Parts: sequence; structure tokens; C-alpha cells
Amino acid sequence: MHRLAQLDHAHVWHPFTQMRDWLRREPAVIVGGKGTRLRDAHGREYLDANSSIWTNLHGHRHPKLNAAITRQLKKIAHSSALGLANEPASRLAAELVRRAEGGKRDEKPAGRAAAGAPHLKKVFFSDNGSTALEVALKLAYEYTRRTRGAKSKPKFLSLAGAYHGDTIGAVSLGHIDVFHRAYAGMLFKTNQVMSPYCYRCPFNRAKPERDDARNNRKCHWECVGLAEQKFSAQKKKGQPYAAFVFEPLMQGAAGMIPQPVGWLSQVTAIARNHGALLIADEVMTGFGRTGVGPATGGKRKVEPLFACQQEAVQPDFLCLAKGLTGGYLPMAATLTTQKVFDAFLGEYEELKTFFHGHSFTGNQLGAAAALASLELLETETSIQQRTRLEKQLHDELQPLWTLPNVGDIRQVGLVAGIELVKDWRTRTPLAWRERAGIRVCEGMARRGVLTRPVGNVIVLMPPYCTTKAQLHQMISALAESVVETFKTRQ
Ligand SMILES: *Cc1c(COP(=O)(O)O)cnc(C)c1O
Repeated sequence: MHRLAQLDHAHVWHPFTQMRDWLRREPAVIVGGKGTRLRDAHGREYLDANSSIWTNLHGHRHPKLNAAITRQLKKIAHSSALGLANEPASRLAAELVRRAEGGKRDEKPAGRAAAGAPHLKKVFFSDNGSTALEVALKLAYEYTRRTRGAKSKPKFLSLAGAYHGDTIGAVSLGHIDVFHRAYAGMLFKTNQVMSPYCYRCPFNRAKPERDDARNNRKCHWECVGLAEQKFSAQKKKGQPYAAFVFEPLMQGAAGMIPQPVGWLSQVTAIARNHGALLIADEVMTGFGRTGVGPATGGKRKVEPLFACQQEAVQPDFLCLAKGLTGGYLPMAATLTTQKVFDAFLGEYEELKTFFHGHSFTGNQLGAAAALASLELLETETSIQQRTRLEKQLHDELQPLWTLPNVGDIRQVGLVAGIELVKDWRTRTPLAWRERAGIRVCEGMARRGVLTRPVGNVIVLMPPYCTTKAQLHQMISALAESVVETFKTRQ
């Protein structure tokens, strides 16, 4: 075993990992990377098929990002945001606001949403996705108390299967039983509403875009109706929901569950009509991951960077992390409106201050990387890369429908989830102890392709620089490993 692997085994405790399994085999120790490739301590190379858990955008060791960080390093790495402003964080906040409004470079943010809808204007920096959600949660909670009265008990609604991070507030918003059960006693109660998991629709409906009226399986948006009931029931109690928290277009950790076109705009409109603030968790979906979106009239005016923009939804809180720095450094941002900001203004002694912050808030290296990443995203090359990857991902995944253990293939933009089942006809799930998802990913790793499953859903989320041949290799490795895994089972 490599010396570094020995050190790891001796001392490192890994996230979301059964360490007994971990200690049974030598881990790949990553010592380098370039573009979509990762290299381990033995010199073996792999393709980074999940962008290092959904973080990397433009590939590893990108010259532009490296240069931006190096330039910043020559000035200063970090100074506190408590009592001080800094150059890259100020510029980044302005850029994020501009992009959240869907504005083009050098354009004033133009209100794209309906008149009167809030505009994201203020940026609160933190370190990771969980803290980005904590900030939104605390702001929404206190904003609600200040606007509805200090006696009100703000309540939150999130989606079934929701995952919003691992700190206590973020876990309270989540609804993945295996992650949350053990800590139930520490959590505050939030409510959940059904998410549109069309593949396992309890109403046995076809997807709305594939209406199958002949078999009486036409979708009547029953899930939207359920959401409306939740909001109105809570309002009737005299305690309307303070906020609706959601991952727009696709839920990640829930198993790559896409929302049918129109779901997001409908449910968020209902939430708004019932007085709830909208908290969009774009930690996974942000920065172009959900694709360049539908073209309007043959030509796109603005390339949407955020999933919400594809359904013209204007949230009150936009939570960003993972891809913010191109996946280079731990940094997050919570964008919010002037209205929320104003509720925290007051005289010093009124104590209306938002008492929250982290040591590395507004970190300068992270902000410099994020600025360079945003610039890259706007280049013609990046837009072309993403358009091509989205199409190739779609086209090359189609043949996998013929594999008997592939139940569903779900794709939103540059994110794909392949759900493995016992039998595609009955959609019967596989038993946990079969570890099918893990075994398929182990097979892929032997073929030089790295990704991690979400249960029995295999995730493909390639960095934007992935070449045609590399994506082909990822999908071939996936198909071969599925065949191999289920062959050895029988
Ligand atoms: C990863 C993730 C988080 C948590 O982010 P961390 O940086 O891991 O704390 C929150 N929400 C979504 C949707 C995520 O994918």
C-alpha cells in the first residue's frame, strides 16, 4: 500500500463513508489532475465523471483559474470581512447580482421577472453549501418575525427527499431518512411536500410532456395540487409558511430527480401567493449545470447560469456554493433582496444586526477564483462546450434503455442520473444489501472512470472541458459495468 494511503488509513475519517469498508482496501490517493483527468499516487489516471462531487466546472488546473488565484496570492490571501471590505469580494458580489438577474456583461441588471417581484441585490458570503442555506434560513426566519410579529413561529416547507447540507439547520430542512433519522432529536421540525418523481409517480401518471391519454394516464399535475393544499392548509391555520425551500429543476442527493417543465414556475407561484418566501438551493444546479436552456426563437438572448432562470422564477434567496469558485476553493454565497436587507437596518442599540458570520467570509482567493470562473462561463467556447456536452450526453445515454436493469435515465442539462432497478418492467427497486450502485461505480473505476452513486442512481456530471472521446469513455464504462454487475449477480 502506498505510504500516503497508509497515513490516510491511520488518521483520516471520510465523509459519508462506512469506514470499515474504507479500511478494507487501498484508496486512490489523488496527487494531480488536469482538465477532466485525475492522477493517483501510483500514476494511474481516471476521468472525473462527477466533477469531484458536483464542484468542478472548467476542469482541473485551468490556466485562467490558476492565474487568477496566483495573481491574488501576490496581493493577499485573506483578510477578514468583519470590519473590512476587500477587492475581489466586492467585485464578485456585483457580478453575482448581475448574473442572477440574467444580465449580460456590461449590462445593467434588467428586471426579467414580473413587475413588483423582488430583485436579488445583496450578497452574504460564507464557506459551503450548508452555511449558504443556514444563512438563508436564519434570514428568512428573522425577516418573518420582524414583518409578521415577534410572536409568529416561522415554518418552512421543503421537498420530499430534500437535501440541503449537513449542519443542523440544513439537516432540519432535509428529508432523506437515512441521513437524518439519527439526529431527529436535535432538529427543528419542517414540513415536506411531495416532489415530482415522475418515474415513481404514486398517481401512476405519465410525465406531463408524454401524456398518455389513451391509458388514462394523463398527468393532471396532482403533485402541484398537493403543494397547493399544503400551502393553503397552513395559511388557514393563520401561520402561513415563512418560506418554501427547493432545489430548482433537479434534486441532486434525492437521486437526480428532475422536475417536469412547468412544475417549478407553478409551485413557486403558489408559494408566493400564500405569502412564502422562496429559498432556491442552487448549490448543485448553479453555474450552467442545468444547461443552456431552451432557445427562444432560434436564438438565445441570455445564457441562463441558474436553474431558476429557465422558468423565470425570481427567488428571495439564492444559495450558491460548489461551482461558485469553479470548484477550486470552499466558498459560498447567499443572495437576497433589498427588502430582506432593510429589515435588518436599525440603530446600533436596537440590535437588529444579523449576528452571523464565519472567519473566512468573503475570502479573497476564493472570490478571485469565482470571478475568473464567471468570466470563463461567459465565453463562446464554454457555451459551445456545454451545448455540445448536453447533446452528446443525451444521445449516448439512449442505448442504455435496452439494459434490463436500467429503469430510468434522467437528464437535466449536464447532469444525468441512471436509476438501476431489479426489473425495468415492474420498476422494482434493488435491495440495499446488493450494493448495486457501489458495485457499478467500482466497475467504472476499474475502467478509469470515477463517480459516486446516490443509492442505486449512477451520476454523470462531467466538467465542461470534457472532450467527446472522454464522455464516450465515461458512458461506455457505465454501460459495461452495469452489464458486468448484473451478470455476476445471477
Ligand atoms: C452539496 C449540496 C449542499 C451542501 O453543500 P456543502 O458545501 O457540501 O455543505 C446543499 N445543497 C445542495 C443542493 C447540494 O448539492
